[in-house]
Amino acid sequence: MPRLDRFFSVFRKKDSEHVEARGLSSDYLEDNLPSSLMERVRTHLEKCGPCTAFVNGLSATIRMLSDMGPKEPPPHLKSHIYQRVQEEKKKHS
Ligand SMILES: [Zn+2]
Repeated sequence: MPRLDRFFSVFRKKDSEHVEARGLSSDYLEDNLPSSLMERVRTHLEKCGPCTAFVNGLSATIRMLSDMGPKEPPPHLKSHIYQRVQEEKKKHS
């Protein structure tokens, strides 16, 4: 079924655009990308609602983390959360 094949190859190509835009989004928000990539992410976001929503969510998360006072590096935060989860588990077992 060549037609279906083409449909899927188009879909995959489009899909990887989203993956790329989302993968670059944290650097995009921090203005950490070469201008050609900034431009690529920006043009993608202009035409893609779901990725814009994703980037907005990420940006809100970054703002929230940086509002939490002294900057904690994410790995530390993660292990802190992990520890809390383990404590909760112990409590409930
Ligand atoms: Zn997208």
